[in-house]
Amino acid sequence: MHRRIIAPGALAAASVLLAIPASAASYTPGAPGIGDPYYPYYGNGGYDVSHYDLRLQYQPKTDELQGTATILAKTTQDLSRFDLDFLLDVSEVRVNGTKAAFTTSGEHELVVTPKTPLAKGTPVTIVVRYSGVPSAKSAYGFTSWHRTPDGGVAANEPEAAWWWFPSNDHPTDKATYDVSVSVPDGTQAISNGTLQSTSSKLGWTRYNWRQNKPQATYLATLALGRFDITTGTSDGGVPVINAYSKDLGDNEGAARASVERTGELVDWLSGYFGPYPFSSVGGYVPNTTTSYALETQTRVFYSPRQFANGANTSLVVHELAHQWYGDYVSVKGWKDIWVNEGFARYAQWLWSEHEGEGTAQELADYVYASHPADDAFWTIAPGDPGPDNQFAGAVYDRGALAIQALRNEIGDDAFFAVLKGWPKEHAYGNASVADFQRYAERVSGKPLAALFDTWLFQPEKPAAPSARALVKTTAAVAQPKSWKKIEATNSVHEH
Ligand SMILES: [Zn+2]
Repeated sequence: MHRRIIAPGALAAASVLLAIPASAASYTPGAPGIGDPYYPYYGNGGYDVSHYDLRLQYQPKTDELQGTATILAKTTQDLSRFDLDFLLDVSEVRVNGTKAAFTTSGEHELVVTPKTPLAKGTPVTIVVRYSGVPSAKSAYGFTSWHRTPDGGVAANEPEAAWWWFPSNDHPTDKATYDVSVSVPDGTQAISNGTLQSTSSKLGWTRYNWRQNKPQATYLATLALGRFDITTGTSDGGVPVINAYSKDLGDNEGAARASVERTGELVDWLSGYFGPYPFSSVGGYVPNTTTSYALETQTRVFYSPRQFANGANTSLVVHELAHQWYGDYVSVKGWKDIWVNEGFARYAQWLWSEHEGEGTAQELADYVYASHPADDAFWTIAPGDPGPDNQFAGAVYDRGALAIQALRNEIGDDAFFAVLKGWPKEHAYGNASVADFQRYAERVSGKPLAALFDTWLFQPEKPAAPSARALVKTTAAVAQPKSWKKIEATNSVHEH
């Protein structure tokens, strides 16, 4: 995991005094962060984005990206100044058609001062012209841009946007997207949603992608390189668009044998989570040397290395489960990561059961028995793991144990009603661990505070007597057949 060091100077730099007329005294700068305690500088205050229109050009030989972002937003306070999160070099910013002053601050803040202060509750159009070499940029010592032999890829969590478009970078500010990218003929551009059209001119091909449902910034992805694109439709009627680098080497067969199952698996998951909420689905496998996957909305990012030991449908199930648990309903704050990862892992347990490779209960028994009481595994609280442990194994495995405990506590009927009802309850929005507990209590009619506290928040192994219906046996348990494929997903997000 990347470690973040918040520069103490960042706040001071953001509080430079502005010459605002006395009559405009109520106009104040938007905060440099949206208020997430894990990442104080992620996102920004003072406005809410509804749409990103990105018109870009990319040269794979040099990794040069240039273009224009048009951002439609609405102010949420009387605003004298506001921040965007971005790393590339900006040449011009316009606010409502007029050139605005701008500067950079901290690790990733672009500070914009419009010529005229913006009144609360008004629409604002922000145009940012920019260029740069994304692979040359880093923040807090890491990068989310993966250079490949034939191009580059933006995919990471909790942030990837800084390397390719200016944004309000936090899951609570979702927006729709048009991503239009021009690349040299022979190179393809892959992004989220549906491919609306392509056009060629003077040796360049433009790809026009549209995400017509709200999408968190970290779930926006861009891949540029030589891809083979496949299309189809699932039995359930969901259009499928997959893409494979033309240079996957020995991993190509296993990658295709996994990702080509996407349509079938998304239909299977719909049986548990309700109708698929987006206009298309798919995955892409660039020729990157990274080792994780990411649930980028409608178009999952996979690393070829994850298929080095053969096909892994369990991994595909994990990332597709996130389309409901993570994408359709996203975290309110990054501390709520269990609502994403616990359920994506639990979906793998359900798939294991379906495939006859170990039931969810057997997997729960195995996890419980595998970690002795003095194992550091139990010191991590999936319900609030802290930024350094956000993607620790315990968030996944202990997180899924908590879900099996819930299932045993409220019974299968209520449990599967919760599993299916929750995504719709917060459709295209955000929700927290506490919201989930309240929802499960409402659907089941049972108080669940003690169960959630035991399994998600206490920094110790729940003792067998108080393990509240989870564990069927405390004896040593045989490893379920699906275990290794499930654990292979643990490289997800860890890098
Ligand atoms: Zn995941």
